[in-house]
Amino acid sequence: MNRQDKADRIGRILDELYPQPPIPLDHQDPFTLLVSVMLSAQTTDKKVNEVTPALFAKAPNPQMMAELSVDEILSLIRTVGLAPTKAKNLQAMAVLLLERHGGEVPADIDALEALPGVGHKTASVVMCQAFHQPAFPVDTHIHRLAARWGLSDGKNVAKTEADLKKVFPEDTWIRRHLQIIYFGREHCPARSHDLSSCRICSWAATRKRIVEESRGR
Ligand code: SF4
Repeated sequence: MNRQDKADRIGRILDELYPQPPIPLDHQDPFTLLVSVMLSAQTTDKKVNEVTPALFAKAPNPQMMAELSVDEILSLIRTVGLAPTKAKNLQAMAVLLLERHGGEVPADIDALEALPGVGHKTASVVMCQAFHQPAFPVDTHIHRLAARWGLSDGKNVAKTEADLKKVFPEDTWIRRHLQIIYFGREHCPARSHDLSSCRICSWAATRKRIVEESRGR
């Protein structure tokens, strides 16, 4: 089966399993989504959703976030991973939004990536989930699954993003990246496991991947 046929079949399975995948990070607008995504690096979405109600009560917009000190932000997000760095970045990001963008989150991927603590994946999530612009955020989980399913050679995240954008139609990108994340969370916890019982790997996994999986790699 060629890569496109695989992607089409995987897309049908994912649409059946997750017809309307919800956005896992609680937010009210582009700013609160951006903050949540920045907080989510190396942290579970559940943990982020636990700290954001108190954070957004104090700082629901760039103006109010910029007025908080880094220490105040840190005290509100202390339980998430990398909290000191994230607190610094959130404060600096809010200041730059005020200075450069009139206190609005820009609907522009380059402008987003120029903000402190905002990498390509974070900017892509904001572009698609807040502004409904076609983007395909690829995290390490999507990167790994794309390689397991033979949709990308898995060289690096940028190549995986380009490969996935080629095989999935643009109007599916927003839901597709969420569907792959949900599938990975629900089905791929084990290191070494039986691929033959999996709805996708049972037919899509490359021979190399089957050998690696059976060895627990
Ligand atoms: S076989 Fe394992 S790694 Fe592959 S998709 Fe299924 S659960 Fe995930």
